[in-house]
Amino acid sequence: MNDGIRVTKTTSPKPKPKDSTLAFGTEFTDHMFLMDYRDDKGWYDARIGPYGPLTLDPATAVLHYAQSMFEGLKAFRGTDGEIRLFRPDKHVQRLNNTAKRLCIPAIDPEVVLESWTTLVDLDRDWVPRAVGTSLYVRPTIIASEPFLGVRPSKSYLYFVILSPVGAYYAEGMNPVKILVDAKYVRAVPGGLGEAKASANYAASLYPQEDAKHGGFTQVLYLDGVHRKYIEEVGTMNLMLRIGDEVITPPLAGSILPGVTRDSVLALLREWGIPASERQVSIDEIVEAAGKGTLEEVFGTGTAAVISPVGELFYKDQHIVVNEGRIGELTQRLYDAIVAVQYGTAPDTRGWTVVV
Ligand SMILES: *Cc1c(COP(=O)(O)O)cnc(C)c1O
Repeated sequence: MNDGIRVTKTTSPKPKPKDSTLAFGTEFTDHMFLMDYRDDKGWYDARIGPYGPLTLDPATAVLHYAQSMFEGLKAFRGTDGEIRLFRPDKHVQRLNNTAKRLCIPAIDPEVVLESWTTLVDLDRDWVPRAVGTSLYVRPTIIASEPFLGVRPSKSYLYFVILSPVGAYYAEGMNPVKILVDAKYVRAVPGGLGEAKASANYAASLYPQEDAKHGGFTQVLYLDGVHRKYIEEVGTMNLMLRIGDEVITPPLAGSILPGVTRDSVLALLREWGIPASERQVSIDEIVEAAGKGTLEEVFGTGTAAVISPVGELFYKDQHIVVNEGRIGELTQRLYDAIVAVQYGTAPDTRGWTVVV
């Protein structure tokens, strides 16, 4: 299957970190995948080589105008010893949707999937074993043409690196404190919000630092037009349970279509729990909290899977959710997804790909 990928193995493999010392995004495996694009050749020269620095001309377009994007997914070592990628097909699809918005030429979906499976397979000994750990897969595409004009680059570099990461909840699943930002916005419809564009993260740093100084873990953005409807948490989509209804904002152009969000919605629908993709205003949330019907709030994303929210701060309002404890549904969703990822529950939905 991978006869199109040229493989050059490293001659100096690195010592592998201990599972117990793993953090997020600090250690990288022995190899990386690379592929080039040129207007006259298309995507070409798919290859795997030793992990190492890239050399870029200072005029390279990406360094000036941020024509850059990424994906993020994980490989898990199951309790049965198998290594599984979680919903790679959805990530491939999103990679090409993001590419389109950034004028980056699409890559054959099969080639993208192969780049992940072949690289993970080669570095499979790097997939950690301890409970909750995983191998993070980071595909990235950058404009590689040395040219200062403002137009789409005529050449690109697609690369994939792998990073063994520790358990997100090494100290237990502690509900986080979130600032509902009344000052900054993340995206507006028509902008880059629904693309996994690197520039979205550059834009989020200032509000995020601001919130950190105030003692909050994350920022929840409101919509940029009315400053009224909740959007997402910058690295996670958001869900609320008000009474018996689970609510998450609709994918209307400014929100990243999370794979975890999609998985949670699929599970809720399977379980017969009402789930709505609809606008929800911060006023509705404050009111529900006042009436005692704001039952659970949680974020969804590849890094944490599910992140319970214990407190929300909005202007002079302080909302405590479920007495700061993890909600019952939040826990059930987390357990169900993690079970599929580690192969302790059967994958009845075709969500995993064994490497
Ligand atoms: C990646 C990302 C998410 C989460 O998406 P998953 O596919 O669930 O990991 C949410 N919001 C933003 C802005 C993101 O970049």
